[in-house]
Amino acid sequence: MILDIRENSKQKIGQNGSGGHCYGKSGDDLYIKVPRGTVIKNAETGEVLADLSEENQAELILKGGKGGKGNSHFATSTRQAPRFAEDGEKGTELEVILELKLLADVGLVGFPNVGKSTFLSVVTSATPKIADYHFTTLTPNLGVVKTEYGDSFVIADIPGIIEGASEGVGLGLQFLRHIERTRLLLHFIDVSGTEGRDPEQDFYTIQNELKKYNKKLSERKQIIVANKADIMQDEKLYTKLEKLAKKENMKLFKISATSGQGIKELMSYISKILKDLPKDDLIEVEERKVYTLEKDEKDFEVEVQGHEYIVQGPAVENIMRRVNIQDRESMHYLQKRLETSGIFDELRKLGIKEGDTVKIEDWEFEWYN
Ligand code: GDP
Ligand code: MG
Repeated sequence: MILDIRENSKQKIGQNGSGGHCYGKSGDDLYIKVPRGTVIKNAETGEVLADLSEENQAELILKGGKGGKGNSHFATSTRQAPRFAEDGEKGTELEVILELKLLADVGLVGFPNVGKSTFLSVVTSATPKIADYHFTTLTPNLGVVKTEYGDSFVIADIPGIIEGASEGVGLGLQFLRHIERTRLLLHFIDVSGTEGRDPEQDFYTIQNELKKYNKKLSERKQIIVANKADIMQDEKLYTKLEKLAKKENMKLFKISATSGQGIKELMSYISKILKDLPKDDLIEVEERKVYTLEKDEKDFEVEVQGHEYIVQGPAVENIMRRVNIQDRESMHYLQKRLETSGIFDELRKLGIKEGDTVKIEDWEFEWYN
């Protein structure tokens, strides 16, 4: 899994151009390795930029700075012997969030304490924490199930979802993302009645949390697992669940994670339907976008303070980075860049007058019409 961020760090700035018809070298590519299942998001907008879920997948996230042009590039009829070369461009900067979303086939959902971790420890060799208090599992646990037919699938056990999880209550939000890309959900319900829970109410509470988090997640294929059948006190609770399953058009299994009752049937059903469930497209990656400098060059703001016009933004930073302010020729070039980038137009539109001051970064200029 390779995330390719090009030249966005300091040492990757394109080399400055030099005299004698030389072009500066563009910066080297910067590759960052990430684990499979990493989703890259624009930190500011939340937009998904890439989903690195394939083995050895590489994505270009950021386009870097071009090398500066040597002086021949600036030779024009009026400026036959240019004396300056352009400084190398700095690559665009972009803050990204790397989110690891597990790639499991089956996700376990349900309230805390309904027996999800117990189930995982029984059907796989994973050793999750099993306890009698709520919210025990703090990191998701993965277990591999090897079926009798020789194939295998991965189950992810996340901490129990509680009401408000989709709003971040009790870290729930962090965990929900781990089941975002499973193909099948096992919805665990405690039918023992020992904790005084109402299975039907539990089911819809969880369903609601899934929906609030991500509508697609709530529409994912689900199997209802009625657990703790070994200590079921009231058959009515199960009958209620049967009705619900029928209404929701979901398959229902009655099991006991501790006694093993019903587990074999459930497992063979899972391995059978996984064969027909699609593997890809579980996360929508918005249209692939590679950020380029051109985008930022239009990006500037002008603040007017009396007779002072303060120009700021990535566009000016980039332009200023490329000129050598001590050099007269370079200043001509700056003038041109400010014109072509639309900054001068903006100043005129804002009503700038002769003698007014234009502030760009640490520099002050006087405006002449
Ligand atoms: P989780 O929070 O959903 O992961 O639940 P755990 O797997 O930690 O189980 C919570 C408690 O329920 C533990 O004390 C388990 O021993 C118990 N438990 C889990 N499954 C069963 C079952 O099928 N029958 C009985 N009697 N107890 C169970
Ligand atoms: Mg657990």
